[in-house]
Amino acid sequence: MTASDSLTRADAAALDAKDTLASLRDRFSIPEGLVYLDGNSLGALPKGVPERVSRTVEQEWGHDLIRSWNTAGWSDLPLRLGAKLAPIVGAHEDEVLVADSTSANLFKLVVAAARLRPDRRVLVTEEGNFPTDGYIVESVASLLGLQTRWVPPGRIEDGLADDVAVVVVTHVDYRTGRMHDMATVTDAVHRAGALMLWDLSHSAGAVQLDLAGCEVDLAVGCTYKYLNGGPGSPAFAYVARRLQDEIDQPLAGWWGHAQPFALERDYRPAPGIARLQAGTAPIVSLTALEASLQVWRDVDLAAVRAKSLGLTNLFIALVDDRLATYDFEVVTPRRRDERGSQVSLRHPDAYPIMQALIARGVIGDFRAPDLDRFGFAPLYIRYLDVWDAVDHLVEVMRTGEWKQPEFAVRAAVT
Ligand SMILES: *Cc1c(COP(=O)(O)O)cnc(C)c1O
Repeated sequence: MTASDSLTRADAAALDAKDTLASLRDRFSIPEGLVYLDGNSLGALPKGVPERVSRTVEQEWGHDLIRSWNTAGWSDLPLRLGAKLAPIVGAHEDEVLVADSTSANLFKLVVAAARLRPDRRVLVTEEGNFPTDGYIVESVASLLGLQTRWVPPGRIEDGLADDVAVVVVTHVDYRTGRMHDMATVTDAVHRAGALMLWDLSHSAGAVQLDLAGCEVDLAVGCTYKYLNGGPGSPAFAYVARRLQDEIDQPLAGWWGHAQPFALERDYRPAPGIARLQAGTAPIVSLTALEASLQVWRDVDLAAVRAKSLGLTNLFIALVDDRLATYDFEVVTPRRRDERGSQVSLRHPDAYPIMQALIARGVIGDFRAPDLDRFGFAPLYIRYLDVWDAVDHLVEVMRTGEWKQPEFAVRAAVT
């Protein structure tokens, strides 16, 4: 196809016919007729989850009761799920734990990192970082009497100096979809003598990651976005092996103790990643996540990345081709190596436009002040979905239907 040819729905169908991951869509429950481009916010439901959750509730909880901590393997779920998740982020199996929320894990790891560099007084983060990341960094700074140094987006190296303890950055920006070069940034941070903590919430399950190869120190991320663990599913935390026995995390709860059921008065941290646990794990949510992670077994992550780029390339090409007259700006990088798995469009009327799209069965989301965000989860989104989404957007603009008053009403969650 040359640039001057217009893309057709048949072109999109031809891309689906060649897609080696196409059959994975059958492993998800996706409502008929819905174009779901919000898997970067809440991933779709894998078909294995309801059965697994009902077994946990009815058999393990309802019948076996407290015995299930031992007989159903409840007590090591956080470590077991960490080991299953590890290959998706390019970590060793004993470097990942699933526990708590991303926010709570950030808190634990930012404090732990600062304690590993006691003579350095500065925490670096990026302007435009996800709000919770900035709030946690500021909170840790105030708690430990440190300073936060905010650097402009993409200018992390400007903030580096010999006073920096840890750099906390999100790998794929939630607004723009811009992706950092993990190897280059991590290396620069290490050369400054600081520790690197990546937030992988918009990366895990969407782009290829190599935490071990990049010698990343610490990382956190969500499991309810591209990993499809369900609303509020527990997050993950990664600590490089070489740091695990040194880290001192501040939520020293009994599940992070070397022997929780020895019930000792004094805290002794468990060896390895297990010490990042604090309290009792949410077992029902963890079993939902365990069933979700089954989908990833034997999935070729290079193929996932290639499909993700194929989907976002097609979306951008169709926006250029068919929406040129409507004032949309593609804010996501056009360079492939700088792009995650979403495309964001800036428009002054982004909010009502997204509501009109949702009313047509095309679900993306709005990020204040002026972005419409479209996430492309490579395991279940088809090229046809991309074509249909843009087709609906063209209709929303051509008819002006986004101007209907009901689309201007703001909901609590956008
Ligand atoms: C989604 C997201 C979070 C969410 O944190 P929670 O504690 O799960 O609410 C954190 N950081 C980033 C970068 C995110 O995209």
